[in-house]
Amino acid sequence: MKKVYGPVPSRRLGRSLGVGPIPFKTCDYSCVYCQLGRTTHMTIQRKDFFPPEEMLNEIRRVIEVESSHSHSKIDFVTFVGEGEPTLCKSLGWLIRKTKEIADIPTAVDTNGSLLYREDVRNDLSQADVVMPSLDAGTAETFRRINRPHRGIDFEAVVEGMEKFRQEYDGEIWAEVMLVKGLNDSEEELEAIKSRLRPIEPNRTYINVPIRPPAEPWAVPPDKESIALAHAILSDVNVVDITAEETGEFSAEGFTNPEDAILAIIRRHPMREEQVIDTLKKFEVEEREVHDSLTRLEESGKIKKVKYREKIFWLTMEEKRGHD
Ligand code: SF4
Repeated sequence: MKKVYGPVPSRRLGRSLGVGPIPFKTCDYSCVYCQLGRTTHMTIQRKDFFPPEEMLNEIRRVIEVESSHSHSKIDFVTFVGEGEPTLCKSLGWLIRKTKEIADIPTAVDTNGSLLYREDVRNDLSQADVVMPSLDAGTAETFRRINRPHRGIDFEAVVEGMEKFRQEYDGEIWAEVMLVKGLNDSEEELEAIKSRLRPIEPNRTYINVPIRPPAEPWAVPPDKESIALAHAILSDVNVVDITAEETGEFSAEGFTNPEDAILAIIRRHPMREEQVIDTLKKFEVEEREVHDSLTRLEESGKIKKVKYREKIFWLTMEEKRGHD
C-alpha cells in the first residue's frame, strides 16, 4: 500500500505531504476539469477503503524519513484525493493521529459536498485548513460542471458549507475552478459570490484547469474573464493561483526511479521537465530519463499528452482504475 506521497510542491500549501485515503477515482462528483479523468467509482457511501492503522503507519514512516533530512521541510500534511477524501470514514481519526505524530499543520482538499453531514463536519473540524470547492452558484451550473452523484443536492451542499463555517474555528480556503463558457460569465460569477459570502472563506482561490482535464473542452477562460472573476470575487478574499506551480517533487522512499515517477504521476500529472528534475535525485542522466519514459510508455503504464503547449505525463486511464 502506498497512500502517502511527496512532499510535492503545492501552489497553496508550500511543500505538501499528500495522503490519499481512498482508492483511485472514487468520488461523488465527475467534474469536467478533473485531472484524474472521468470518475469511475461514483459513490456517496463513506467507508474505510484501506485499514486506517496501515495508513497511519505509512504517514509516520514518511514523516520520520523526511525529518531525518536536515534540508527537508513539510509545510502541510494534506488529505487529498485520487477522488474525494471525505468518503473515508476514518478521516477524522487519521487527522487527529497525524497531529499526535508531528507538529505539522494539516489540511483537507475536498469538494465539500458532504459537509451537510454532521460526521463529516466533525471530521474536518480536526484539520487546520479545509479547502472546499465551489464552482457554481446555481444547481444547473453545478450539474454541468461537477456532474454530481444523484444523491447530492446543491442547496444541501451550500448549506453544509455555511453550517461548517459557523462551527469551525480553522481556516476555510475556498476554491473556484473556472472553465471557459461554463462558469466564467458575469452572471455566473455573481451567483458564485452570493453563495460564497455566507461561507466567509478566509481565502478564495481562483483556479483554472492547468493540467489535462477529463473533458478536452474544459479549458481555462481567457484573461479578461479571469480579471472579471478577480473583480467580482474581490470581497471574498480572492487569491490567484492560475499560474503553474514550481519547485521539486520528492522522490524519497523509492529505490527505483521508475516507481517514483509512476507513484507521483498517478496522483498528479507531471510536466516533462518536472519528471526530469525528479529523476535527477537518482543521478540519472536526461537521456536515461527519456529512455525510462519510453519504456513506461511502451509497457502501457503511462502516456504523453500535449496540453496548452506543454508535454504532460499521465498514468493510463485503464491502469489507474479510479478506485
Ligand atoms: S476534481 Fe475532485 S471532486 Fe471533481 S471529480 Fe475529480 S476528484 Fe472528484
